[in-house]
Amino acid sequence: MKRKICVFTGSRPGARAEYQEAARQIGHELVERGYGLVYGGGNVGLMTVVADTVLALNGHVTGVIPDRLVEKEVAHCGLSDLRIVPSMHERKAVMAELSDGFIALPGGIGTLEEFFEVLSWAQLGIHNKPCGLLNVSGYFQQLIQFLDYAVDQDFLKPKHRSMLIVEEEPSALLDRFEEFFATHAAERFERSRT
Ligand code: AMP
Repeated sequence: MKRKICVFTGSRPGARAEYQEAARQIGHELVERGYGLVYGGGNVGLMTVVADTVLALNGHVTGVIPDRLVEKEVAHCGLSDLRIVPSMHERKAVMAELSDGFIALPGGIGTLEEFFEVLSWAQLGIHNKPCGLLNVSGYFQQLIQFLDYAVDQDFLKPKHRSMLIVEEEPSALLDRFEEFFATHAAERFERSRT
């Protein structure tokens, strides 16, 4: 079955044109490589730029949105598959289950929260799926430096720090995902282990 990649990103478009350009590029790369997109299902911000790009290229998009956000984030009605779930927790669990890898593009607290949850699950061995930051125009630079500081201060093991894939170009990030798929045996995500 076709692999699906989850993209977490902002409910706002951000200040620089580069962010939207990167969102379009990641959409192109996903379709070119035959991956489906999983995302938060909204029709706002950078997330809709990724989804609309994939849809325009006839790619497959699954949106997962909690019922209380259907109005606030204007659920995207043109998706291949829109799942309306009862809670934020359910949203993240469904996105994690459906996806074979996770990418964060620039975003705010919601993006960071969703991405760090799946990264922490990778650290705990709950899943064995690649987690990557697309460091567009150095947006995540201070965050990456902070994680290196956490290693320095012995709160983060180097082997766990190295689980985080960081690239600046969408194609380089997806190349790293493909290397990961080629070298790691897929492991089913089990909700009971979270
Ligand atoms: P932001 O990066 O803050 O613009 O948020 C990006 C997306 O993350 C938003 O569309 C929210 O729907 C989603 N989000 C925010 N907080 C959470 C959360 N605690 N759990 C799941 N999704 C969230």
